[in-house]
Amino acid sequence: MPGVRDRNESAWLLPNDGSRTNHRLRADMRRFADTDEIDLVIVGCGAGGSVLLQRLARAGWRVAALDAGPFWDPDTDWVSDEAGSQQLYWTDPRVISGADPVPMGSNNSGRGVGGSMVHYAGYTPRFHPSDFTTQKLDGVGADWPLSYPELRPYYEQLEQELPVAGERWPWGDPHAYPYRPHPVGGNGEIFLRGARALGIEARVGPVAITNGRFGNRPHCIYRGFCLQGCKVNAKASPLVTHIPDALAHGAEVRADAMVTRIAIDPESGRALGVHYVRDGRERFQRAAMVAVAGYSIETPRLLLNSACARFPDGVGNDFDQVGRYLMVQGAPQTAGRFDSEVRMYKAPPPEVSTEQFYETDHSRDFQRGFSIQTVSPLPITWAEHVAAQGHWGGALRQYMSDYVHWACLGALCEFLPQPGNRVTLADEKDRYGLPVADFSYTQCGNDQAQAKAAQSVMEDILRAAGAEEVITIQRYAHLVGGARMAADERSGVVDQSCRSFAVPNLYITDGSVLPTQGAANPALTIMAVAARAADQLAAGARSGSAS
Ligand SMILES: Cc1cc2nc3c(=O)[nH]c(=O)nc-3n(C[C@H](O)[C@H](O)[C@H](O)COP(=O)(O)OP(=O)(O)OC[C@H]3O[C@@H](n4cnc5c(N)ncnc54)[C@H](O)[C@@H]3O)c2cc1C
Ligand code: SF4
Repeated sequence: MPGVRDRNESAWLLPNDGSRTNHRLRADMRRFADTDEIDLVIVGCGAGGSVLLQRLARAGWRVAALDAGPFWDPDTDWVSDEAGSQQLYWTDPRVISGADPVPMGSNNSGRGVGGSMVHYAGYTPRFHPSDFTTQKLDGVGADWPLSYPELRPYYEQLEQELPVAGERWPWGDPHAYPYRPHPVGGNGEIFLRGARALGIEARVGPVAITNGRFGNRPHCIYRGFCLQGCKVNAKASPLVTHIPDALAHGAEVRADAMVTRIAIDPESGRALGVHYVRDGRERFQRAAMVAVAGYSIETPRLLLNSACARFPDGVGNDFDQVGRYLMVQGAPQTAGRFDSEVRMYKAPPPEVSTEQFYETDHSRDFQRGFSIQTVSPLPITWAEHVAAQGHWGGALRQYMSDYVHWACLGALCEFLPQPGNRVTLADEKDRYGLPVADFSYTQCGNDQAQAKAAQSVMEDILRAAGAEEVITIQRYAHLVGGARMAADERSGVVDQSCRSFAVPNLYITDGSVLPTQGAANPALTIMAVAARAADQLAAGARSGSAS
């Protein structure tokens, strides 16, 4: 893969001695003083924050990322065990409200260096070109202030850096992947068989899981613990893909540092740095520029909690846009029972998907669409699926002892952005004394029609593959939006470069900036948007216009 190593050496910086963490790199990491006015401080070191950090460290910036959670060590912190992995999630209190409240915790954001990608499944599809103009094409959602071709080069770079494995992708902007597809397990075989019987096109991938050795990163060993952190380091997350390279190029990653407020100069209206709490002490990091990348709930919450004389309703909230248009994908999950053993745990959960139903089809009674993917829950998550169906006691025990006979598919439905689906501040306070987020969510009729259609296709696929019983539960996945990019400050919080309309030296570079969510998993797009913003910042700095 020519050029990858020049751009991102992370995979070669990992140790080659059977351990999984480059302790030397962490010990020798550059450390800035709070009183240093660094070029950029980043809040949150997940999908968006880490890519920005790595790119700007390579451009020679003095840059630090502060993350509220720990600097994970896969050798000592992670276990291949569902129950033992709960510490990976952001489980601080949050209030949920609205007609269709979204449960928080293990199904949304992570806490710690690497962010939610530490426990994400590993699917890395691109958005389709149509996702960037849904208002123009379909009269719903919003048009992005940037186009698909502007993101394409960043998708291509990141697919090599993670790297991504999969079959040639026929949907959206058709493209190939740098690594060939993984072999599939029982669940993937069933999806492919059922889809083939119905004439539905399904493909293997795209997953950010190494298929063969990549630098010093070992290949996947197909044990299926991708959502528990991947102790092997085969699954890409910033902890192994972008952070080691950032450290090697002079960045600092400050773990266990909870940012409580962005400081704004009342005179100039510019950001001065961030207040944060570490080891029980309140501190302040000065910086010429601030970027927020704390995930769709925590980013709007931080902007709102940073209300000050210049921004009494929250930073960048002059037009009441902060926290609005928060989206979550409808993610119904359908399981089918087969006579023969499936053993869906014996492979990564992400294996096979179809995007055949992704765009608007005028023969259906809703706009936009959905994708379908293998999901392969481990036993505790399987018990939750069965219990959500209303099965308890003896029936639940029966379903559990039958676990090896079940296959499971999940849909991602493009629920539409709505202004009333938003984060505000609740009366309740967290352990730092800060108001927690109240996330209010209500589905619209289009959302409900999509989820129904997706359920019906998944049930058909499993039946066509030979399932004798199918059960479906309704759930959500993947929060994005809440500080969206837009053409102007009356319809969004940042511009197409991720720069705040209101504060010229404040950027937002995480999933919050997405104006629509498509029916694709969001991590690759979040990274691509951050990589593009980094390029523009580095170019602006050279031309003297970045801040
Ligand atoms: C179970 C599960 C499976 C998933 N599977 C997939 C998948 O297969 N494919 C895919 O594309 N996506 C998947 N996702 C979603 C994906 O991981 C997220 O969309 C993505 O990581 C979000 O990126 P981000 O940069 O917005 O935030 P994150 O990656 O969550 O990073 C935010 C970081 O900010 C830190 N932070 C927050 N607030 C503060 C603060 N005030 N001070 C300091 N630090 C702070 C947090 O600790 C965290 O580390 C999955 C998510 C879950 C929960
Ligand atoms: S199945 Fe592969 S990617 Fe998933 S946890 Fe195991 S080694 Fe990692």
